[in-house]
Amino acid sequence: METVFSKIIEGTIPSKKVFENERILAFHDIQPAAPVHVLIIPKKFIASMNDVTAEDLPLIAEIHAVAQQIALELGVAETGYRLINNCGPDSGQAVPHLHYHLIGGAKLGALVG
Ligand code: C5P
Repeated sequence: METVFSKIIEGTIPSKKVFENERILAFHDIQPAAPVHVLIIPKKFIASMNDVTAEDLPLIAEIHAVAQQIALELGVAETGYRLINNCGPDSGQAVPHLHYHLIGGAKLGALVG
């Protein structure tokens, strides 16, 4: 399925990349919610957390390893950060391509609301 993120993966929509390998891309969110706001996405199309299968689990583990590395590189590993996945309408998921928000660089507020 074509989404804004598949276009970012293809390069037809530009992004400020912070990490890329054959399986994963990470880039700065265009509307940052905090001083550090990076999106980490699999290049494989997975619509949402609901669509992750057992065969995707190594990819999900690798996304966590990439998040850990980005947090170190962007200086939030010690101060703290969140890794957030929005899944479905109530969460506010706007782009139907699995993605994780790495958010930090400031004292973060309550999760609900
Ligand atoms: O979790 P959710 O689907 O709401 O998040 C989508 C995110 O993708 C938003 O934070 C939005 O700012 C970001 N985005 C982006 N670049 C685009 C389109 C959306 O960083 N070209």
